[in-house]
Amino acid sequence: MRYFYIIATPIGNLEDMSERGVRILKEVDFVLCEDTRVTRKLLARFNIGARTISYHQHSKLTKINQIKDLVNQGKNIALVSDAGTPAISDPGGKLVRELVAEFGNEIKITPVPGPSALVAALSVSGFPADKFVFMGFPPHKKGRQKFWQELGAQKYTVVFYESPHRILKSLDELAEVTGERPVMAARELTKKFETIYRGTALEIKAELAADTVKGEFVLAVSAK
Ligand code: SAM
Repeated sequence: MRYFYIIATPIGNLEDMSERGVRILKEVDFVLCEDTRVTRKLLARFNIGARTISYHQHSKLTKINQIKDLVNQGKNIALVSDAGTPAISDPGGKLVRELVAEFGNEIKITPVPGPSALVAALSVSGFPADKFVFMGFPPHKKGRQKFWQELGAQKYTVVFYESPHRILKSLDELAEVTGERPVMAARELTKKFETIYRGTALEIKAELAADTVKGEFVLAVSAK
């Protein structure tokens, strides 16, 4: 049997790293990570001397093949992302698909659960979360209009991710399809400047525009 671990890491506060995650990161032969500089800080904090290999959104097929080779050689490998749970709106998803396609039941892919910005934000939204729709990031160009239309048509709570560069534009476009529906924007979760904004999309935009917009965001729109 081949072993591959999907390890969640903190989304800001290193105290959120699980004991099991630390143990497995110490035990594996290699740790695949998006940005080795980011992951080295985590590894240093927990005295983990793991060998790192970068795997990110621009990684080519040859990198995926190298990873498959290591798995074939019986190496134990863990995948982490810069923050949160790998494969949730990040490059890990493609790698897991490739490994399942290549090895099927010959590989045991084990989750080591922990933080995810999506779930952390939803948990403080106050919006119904028994059923919800997660839409990832709004596309930058192609498909953007369709993204907002689909979002506006959902009858369940919707959650999506946004970067600081686009948040004001996105809130404007969101307002067109959600109008007076309650929205929550969660910024810098678990970090020093964590802030939760509540209101309509335009009210939140006005609040943010008065500030220097920094940090990462998760947005949630209440169910209809
Ligand atoms: N896989 C990750 C997870 O499970 O949280 C998400 C990866 S995605 C590439 C990164 C996005 O997650 C950011 O652009 C932001 O929208 C959101 N995010 C990550 N950390 C966050 C934080 N501390 N506060 C708010 N949003 C965060």
